[in-house]
Amino acid sequence: MRPNVLNPLFAPLSALPGIGPKLEKLFARLIGRDDEPPRVIDLLFHLPTGLVDRRNQPKLSNVTPDTVVTVAVTVDRHRPPPSNRPRAPYNIDASDDTNTLTITYFNARRDYLEKLFPEGALRYVSGIATLYDGHLQMLHPDRVVDAAGFARLPLIDPVYPLTEGLHPNQVRKALDLALERLPALPEWQDPAWLTKNTYPSFAAALASIHRPATPDDISPESAAWSRLAYDELLASQLALALLRGHMRSRTGRGSAAEGKLRARITAALPYSLTPSQQRAVSDITADLAQPQRMLRLLHGDVGSGKTVVALIAAAHVIEAGRQAAFMAPTEILARQHFATIAPLAASAGIRVAILTGRERGRERSETLAALALGDIDLILGTHALFQDEVAFRDLALAIVDEQHRFGVHQRLALARKGEAVDLLVLTATPIPRTLVLTYFGDMDVSELREKPAGRQKIDTRAVPLTRLDEVIEAVARALDEGRRVYWVCPLVEESESIDLAAAEERYRHLLQRFGDTVDIVHGRMRGAEKDRAMERFAKGETRLLVATTVIEVGVDVPEASVMVIEHAERFGLAQLHQLRGRVGRGAERSICLLLYRAPLGVTAKARLAVLRETDDGFRIAEEDLKLRGEGDVLGTRQSGMPGFRIARLDVHGKLLPAARDDAALVLARDPKLNSPRGQALRHLLYLFARDEAIRLLGAG
Ligand code: ADP
Ligand code: MG
Repeated sequence: MRPNVLNPLFAPLSALPGIGPKLEKLFARLIGRDDEPPRVIDLLFHLPTGLVDRRNQPKLSNVTPDTVVTVAVTVDRHRPPPSNRPRAPYNIDASDDTNTLTITYFNARRDYLEKLFPEGALRYVSGIATLYDGHLQMLHPDRVVDAAGFARLPLIDPVYPLTEGLHPNQVRKALDLALERLPALPEWQDPAWLTKNTYPSFAAALASIHRPATPDDISPESAAWSRLAYDELLASQLALALLRGHMRSRTGRGSAAEGKLRARITAALPYSLTPSQQRAVSDITADLAQPQRMLRLLHGDVGSGKTVVALIAAAHVIEAGRQAAFMAPTEILARQHFATIAPLAASAGIRVAILTGRERGRERSETLAALALGDIDLILGTHALFQDEVAFRDLALAIVDEQHRFGVHQRLALARKGEAVDLLVLTATPIPRTLVLTYFGDMDVSELREKPAGRQKIDTRAVPLTRLDEVIEAVARALDEGRRVYWVCPLVEESESIDLAAAEERYRHLLQRFGDTVDIVHGRMRGAEKDRAMERFAKGETRLLVATTVIEVGVDVPEASVMVIEHAERFGLAQLHQLRGRVGRGAERSICLLLYRAPLGVTAKARLAVLRETDDGFRIAEEDLKLRGEGDVLGTRQSGMPGFRIARLDVHGKLLPAARDDAALVLARDPKLNSPRGQALRHLLYLFARDEAIRLLGAG
């Protein structure tokens, strides 16, 4: 049971005054988890990605144009647009004793501005001052306050990721209320550790990040942010340790097989397995044959061929007369795995089916029945596989693709579906080898080190957007040669609809040039539509696919050999690597064109250079860490660790070993979390959504 003291934090955001259904919906888009309404804690964990420094408060004569200034001015005169040109700007003349300033609004309501700027009154306005025609101007100041408001104006103003339609002031106001609700919580960290690192309390840490006193307070390196990151890492390490203890305490069941099915599958493959695929297969089948439970991670770069290894693992338990489940994080991926696996499985006589949220009615109930009877050997699907109604006759092996999207909760739900289910996790998360174990919680690891034979290096080039026409001509040639092309447009969280509009515009543009061989796929499309678009592309019915980054994880169309990434400078290195990994999967020589908007910053330039130089995901991960070290503020979102909200690999990764040791020590002394610190740690597990692990404490 969740401690009552946490209730205010787990209340829905709509319980805060002023948050109605409309605002709640916007917040849900920003910070909601899956389809659940956002809660107060979700807002508190929505940390700023930058700041506006309002400490610069010069006289008008000392203003440096194009910087953020906060100036005290007297309102002299309103100059609304003439009635015959209502779209003209609305100007307000203001001054101090040194100079004049024009404050300018477009499309503003007159009565609103008259109230905000009464003539003759003193106002503090903050924003970027520019020089226009030799006069100082401020366009749409972001803060306008009177003397009383100025006294309360935060001089270091955090900047939050937003979503279309949500105003920064609305986020700020909601945060004020949320911070007020922060209860006093028992301290779960070791006091000596807190002192050593000068970490503040949990509540003080949140307050200082949302209400910074200095720019340093807002940086991920700050004591406050590090404290919260460490909290999160500790919660995750505790949960993993509890899960591991639980899984290991149940003995498994061995599945005996000679390898007949495996032989049939490998015979049906158009290629032979790489040495590391073979090694992984023998590691896994050896585990499966043992009565101990398997907890194994298959770690391999994009395109290294994890899927077929997983299929062979499934074949092993199926040959022993048992069942396997294969879970993908998205509908598209589940369908794609189904499409690749079905023919191979057929040639080995394995009965495969798919189950996602989309299978309904008769089809669904038939699949469920067949699964329960054991008439399906291998089931592919999404989260839908975890639902209570899904029952197996004898589930032996659960395979989870790209596990960082699945939590402890799902792993447990799955483990409950069979007697001592073996677990195989597939991941391409490029994290340095030293951290793999800590990150995934002490599993056995198989690594796919080499790429399948015959792969050629992807010819990678950076091209400025000004040469778009040449790129389109290159695409035209590729299409003439019968190739298939991805064209990726970025979708940045800050403003989904603007970016979507950009992707759609690019689509129309390409459609005009290339006709109906062009198609589009993006995140706002319904699942079935997305699948159909992917399917048409996979079959070659369309050959130029404009996509937002929904194609990022795992999609496999070996015939695609050209990748154009627009605004490559906006992507993180790891993301670019993942995207590029969508081509170069067949024998054909592939190219990747990184279109960027000039001029490039130093870090962006270095990033693109790394990408041109190497296609080794681990090297790229390491270079990424190094580049991040130079602090690119805008990249913050991308450097989050998958599955973590606050901790960032580049900054806080070094805390992982300490968190792991701490978790081990705590559980060694207090395995049921009953001591005072143990009780406090239970709060922590709830706060960071690792509370499923608490149920294991009772389960023994
Ligand atoms: P990932 O590890 O990213 O999940 P996939 O399993 O999707 O990679 O495999 C990528 C592509 O490589 C697929 O088209 C697959 O058929 C192919 N492939 C896998 N193993 C080999 C191999 N040993 N030789 C040649 N191609 C292979
Ligand atoms: Mg894959």
